[in-house]
Amino acid sequence: MAEQRDDKIDQLQAEIIKLRSQKDHLLKELDAVEAQYGNLDSLYRRYFPIILDVLSEEGTALGDACIQLGAAMRKKASPAKIEYIFNQIKTAMIQEDMGPAAPKKKRGFFSTFRKNSSEDQMLNNLRDSYQNVVNHLKSNLDKKYTRKLELITSNLLKIGDIQAFEEVRENIFSLIFNYISETSQDREKVNAFIRDIVARIFEIEKRLASSYEHTSSLLSSNQGFGSILNNEMAGIKKSFDVAESLDDLRAKISTGLASIEKALQKKQKVDQAISRLAEKSKTSFASGFAKLKQELQVATKYSEELEKKLNEDQLTGAKNRRAYDKKIEEEMDRFLRYKNIFSLLIIDVDKFKNINDTYGHAIGDRCLQEIIKRTRPLLRKSDMLARYGGEEFVLIMPETNREGATQVAEKIRQTIEKIEFLYKEETVRVTVSIGVSCIKEGDKSSKDLFERADMAVYKAKENGRNQVMTQ
Ligand code: GH3
Ligand code: MG
Ligand code: MG
Repeated sequence: MAEQRDDKIDQLQAEIIKLRSQKDHLLKELDAVEAQYGNLDSLYRRYFPIILDVLSEEGTALGDACIQLGAAMRKKASPAKIEYIFNQIKTAMIQEDMGPAAPKKKRGFFSTFRKNSSEDQMLNNLRDSYQNVVNHLKSNLDKKYTRKLELITSNLLKIGDIQAFEEVRENIFSLIFNYISETSQDREKVNAFIRDIVARIFEIEKRLASSYEHTSSLLSSNQGFGSILNNEMAGIKKSFDVAESLDDLRAKISTGLASIEKALQKKQKVDQAISRLAEKSKTSFASGFAKLKQELQVATKYSEELEKKLNEDQLTGAKNRRAYDKKIEEEMDRFLRYKNIFSLLIIDVDKFKNINDTYGHAIGDRCLQEIIKRTRPLLRKSDMLARYGGEEFVLIMPETNREGATQVAEKIRQTIEKIEFLYKEETVRVTVSIGVSCIKEGDKSSKDLFERADMAVYKAKENGRNQVMTQ
C-alpha cells in the first residue's frame, strides 16, 4: 500500500518536474517573444520616421494617416490598431495616385512625366517639345533656314542624354541670331517672334526640371517600396492568426521584417541616386537658364541696336528716309480716318555746295550735324526730324496746323542763322530755306503734302534764300 503511494508520489513528482520544465520552457519562449517584439519595436522606431518623412505631406489624407501611424507607434498601439492605420495609408496612396495598383490618370504635360518615369521617356518628351519649337521656326522663317532646321532635327534624334540638349538649344539660338541680323522684316514683329520662341524654350526646360526633380523618379521608388511594405505588413498580420507555434510566429515575423529592411535599404539607395541625379540636372539647368537669360538679353539689345540703326541716319543721328516714309504714311492714315491734321517742313541748306567747296567736306559734315543738334531742342516729342537726303531734312509735326508749323519753321531758321562755325579763326555761317505745308481736305496721299512743301522751298530759294515759305 505504502509502495503504491510512493509510486503515486513519484509519478506526481515527475509530473511536477515535467510541468516545471514546461513552465520554464514556456517562460523562455515568452521571453523570446518579448525580445522579438522588442526588436520589432526598435525596428519600427528606426525605420518609421524615414517612411513617414518620405510619405508625409501636410493636409493630405496620406499625410494625416502617416501622422496617426507615428502617434500609434509611439503609444505602442496593438497590432490591430496598426493594421487599421496601414489600411488607411493604403487607401490614401491609391487615392493620391501613388499606390502600386493605382490607375494612371492623365493630367496634361506634367502627368506624362509621372507616367513615364524612365530617363528614356523623359528624353523623348524633351525631344518632342524641342521638335515643336523647330517646327514652329520652320513654318515661320524663310525657306533658306529649312536646311539648318532639318540638321537640328537630325541632331535631336541622335540625342542620348539630357546634357546634349544644351547644344540643340544653342543651335536654335544661333539660328535666331542669324535671322535677326539678316531679316528685313518689321522689328516689332521680329522681337515678338523671338520673345515667343525664347519663352517656349524656357517653359520646356522649366517644366522638365521641376518634374524631373520632384515627381516621377521618387514616385516610382515609393511605389516599389510601398508594394513591398503593404505585402509584408499583411503577411505579418496574417501570421498572428495562422502561426502554429511561437517559433513559427517568430520565424514569420523575422522573415517579414528582413524583407521590409531589404526594401528600405534598396529604396534608400534609389532615393539617394535619384536625388544625386536631380541635383546634377538641377545645377546643369540652373546654369542653362542663366545662360539663356544672358543670351536673351544680348539678343534683345542687339535687335534694339539693329532697329535703331535701321531707322537712323549715321552722320547726324536724325531719323532716316526709311523711318520718315513709315511715319508719313501713318500720319496720312490717321488723317484719312480721323481727320487728325499734321504739317510737314522741308529744310534745305542754302548754298551748301559752296561750304563744301570752300571749307572741305568734313566741315560740311559738321555743319549738318550741328544743324540737327540745334534744331532738336525746338521740337516736340511727337515730331519727327529726318534726313531726307544730302543736305535736305524733313520734319513731320503731328497735330500741328499751318500757323503752328510756320512758327516752328521760323524759329529753326533763326536758330541756324545764328550758329557760328569756326574755321581757322574764320567764322562760317549757314542758313536754311524752309518750305511748310499742312494737310488739308482733298489731299489723297502724302505726296500732295510733300509737293506743296517742296514748291514752298523752291519759292524760298527763288526769293533769296534764308526764309520760310508756306503753301
Ligand atoms: P541751294 O541753296 O540751291 O540748295 O544750293 P546747294 O548748293 O545747297 O544745292 P545743291 O543741291 O546744288 O547742292 C547740295 C550739296 O550738298 C551738294 C553736295 O555736295 C552736298 N552734300 C550732300 N550730302 C552731303 C553730305 O553728307 N556731306 C556733305 N559735306 N555735303 C553733302
Ligand atoms: Mg538740296
Ligand atoms: Mg541746298
